[in-house]
Order: sequence, then C-alpha cells, then structure tokens
Amino acid sequence: MGPVWRLIKGQKDMCHRCGREILDFPAVGRVVDFQFRAEEAYCWDCYRYLTPFVDDIAPESRDPFQPVTKPAIP
Ligand SMILES: [Zn+2]
Repeated sequence: MGPVWRLIKGQKDMCHRCGREILDFPAVGRVVDFQFRAEEAYCWDCYRYLTPFVDDIAPESRDPFQPVTKPAIP
C-alpha cells in the first residue's frame, strides 16, 4: 500500500517543514499491519503550501485524507 494522508488528532508533533509544534495535524505515511505510521507531519500552513505537490509525496493517494476509523496509536 502506498503513502496515505491521515488527520492525526490528540497528538503533538513537530512540523516536518518549519519545525512548529503542531496538534491535530495532517501527516503522510504508510499503513503497516493495519496501523498508520506517519513518516512526515505538517502544520496546516505547510500542508496548504504542499497541497499542489501532494501527488509527489503520496502518488497513490487520491483523497488527501483517508477516513480515520481508529486511533493512530491505540
Ligand atoms: Zn509547518
């Protein structure tokens, strides 16, 4: 399965691009053993900036946000 975007909620991380602290953020990663593993996370400003290039980051992702059906970390 290719890279997918997920909306991560209730976790703090740092934006991969600008280093800002983020909470409830879009992340791109892969689903391994039915669990999402984020590879890069972004703040909303950077996500907006990256949107035109989302296909490069996640070429197999048609819908930028896959439905989140279970917590990223149980
Ligand atoms: Zn950022």
